[in-house]
Amino acid sequence: MEKRIDGATQLICLIGSPVKHSGSPLMHNFCFRHNDQNFAYMAFDVKEEDTKQALEALRLFGARGCNATMPCKIATAKFVDKLSPAAEIIGACNTVVNEDGVLVGHITDGTGFVCNLREKGVDVKGKKIVCIGAGGAATAIEVECALEGCASMVIFNRSLGKAVTNADKIKAACPECEVKALRLSDTDALKEEILKADILINGTSIGMAPNVDDTPIADTSVFHEGLVVADAIYNPLETRLLREAKEAGCKVIAGDGMLLWQGAAAYKLWTGTEMPVEEFRKFKASL
Ligand code: NAP
Repeated sequence: MEKRIDGATQLICLIGSPVKHSGSPLMHNFCFRHNDQNFAYMAFDVKEEDTKQALEALRLFGARGCNATMPCKIATAKFVDKLSPAAEIIGACNTVVNEDGVLVGHITDGTGFVCNLREKGVDVKGKKIVCIGAGGAATAIEVECALEGCASMVIFNRSLGKAVTNADKIKAACPECEVKALRLSDTDALKEEILKADILINGTSIGMAPNVDDTPIADTSVFHEGLVVADAIYNPLETRLLREAKEAGCKVIAGDGMLLWQGAAAYKLWTGTEMPVEEFRKFKASL
């Protein structure tokens, strides 16, 4: 038995399938050890239809909580007892905290995105944002940016229906945010909106490995002075979108920071303390 695990150690799980590739056990266990906190993080391969049972097991074992990844994020939101405001709007959870037997669901992907921008000196408050995508990552980003007070949000997606659904959710939750939904194939509107924007976000998988030559923005003349371009993709670290935006003089922000900060937000929810982000970065670089 690992020396730091004893009878009082609190369990934190990852549920989803597959989970073997996840970097979360390494990150959280390093940070618990570094901060001398009596928690242990383990990954469990759980199919979507078993999400309810997994959450009941969490409650039975008195575990501190869990992360939920695909395909369990939506089912987790359905079966927890309470939801955070963002998780309620989105209808998905990636983090659960067991508050004395009451399972509270949160979503930290959007918080992670906003924290990553803040760390790089970019605040979304009052900004005009164009976000491409309406899947899991993009929805969390769009809702969190609206909750954080962005002035406007234009959502472009291949399937217009999903973009409209997200725009409707934001309109209902944040009426002060001006929001509209457009088809990604409407390249004239895309150009027009980006030219007016402060921040352009790619929340789609366009450009993710192995399709590293793809980009959601074919017309690089949209990259104007002062535009910040952020990508949710972390593999590769520099997508074609970011490379071309950087070449055009834009500030660019990669998706690896979003991944780190969504974990840090979950860590804080479970432990009440800040995750030692810098120490983990150094540790990871040393591997
Ligand atoms: P998802 O739920 O499957 O959504 C995929 C999105 O990409 C949808 O908007 C989809 O449009 C769009 N899309 C995919 N292929 C397309 C194509 N060929 N042309 C146009 N649109 C296309 O996936 P997700 O979980 O949101 O993940 C999206 C990306 O974010 C992935 O690269 C993932 O690795 C990354 N991610 C990063 C983090 C982080 O912490 N940095 C966290 C989560 C995800 P339709 O709606 O029309 O299908």
